[in-house]
Amino acid sequence: MVKVVAFDADDTLWHNEHLFLETRDRFTALLAGYHEKGWIEDRLYETELRNLGIFGYGIKGFALSMIETAIDLTETRVTGADVAEIIELAKGMLDAPVTLIDGAEETLKEVAGRYRAIIVTKGDLFDQETKLARSGLGNLVDTVEVVSDKSVNTYRRIMRSLAVSPEEFVMVGNSLRSDILPVIEIGGHAVFVSYETTWEHESVSDTALERLDFLRAESIADVPALLERFGEPRPRIPG
Ligand SMILES: [Mg+2]
Repeated sequence: MVKVVAFDADDTLWHNEHLFLETRDRFTALLAGYHEKGWIEDRLYETELRNLGIFGYGIKGFALSMIETAIDLTETRVTGADVAEIIELAKGMLDAPVTLIDGAEETLKEVAGRYRAIIVTKGDLFDQETKLARSGLGNLVDTVEVVSDKSVNTYRRIMRSLAVSPEEFVMVGNSLRSDILPVIEIGGHAVFVSYETTWEHESVSDTALERLDFLRAESIADVPALLERFGEPRPRIPG
């Protein structure tokens, strides 16, 4: 019997990844005089991954990774004006309006009427809090957890704090790596809602997904109906 339905926020309730893609395009354009686009993108991604354990997820870490990449790729020749522009790009991301995904608000209302609905989002605390305030969704949910990472231990802690068992917990999100895998691993339920673009880091190989028991929704509006399936005995996975 499901008691708690947890929603991811970025690219599940509101659009987010496009901000990173647009900023990356402007960043590569800024350095176009030094290297070609694909090369800059690859180096930026490598820098981001290397820095995740130091800065964590979010825009501020991304900004520092852009600056670091610019310094590396120009062999320190990047100008102060260019760095200022990178900082402006990051500020623009932090200030950007929050655009809800179609159906997110209605779905959240419907789910909150039947279950305890919460939001679990990872990233910078301040950024996520202000985005939540701008989204207008905060009042619809019971609680909001801003976490630095969505690991097995993070979900265990959240379930403990809500006094629910994994069978009573459903995670809804667009990231297989962060929203689906760790929750399934500890015996919880999950609904994967696909989004148009996924950050490479959050993607998961098909082999890792084989035999995993989770549901897929084409859109967030399909989630309430899918949740009812968790009330029924789970079919055995063939093979
Ligand atoms: Mg997400």
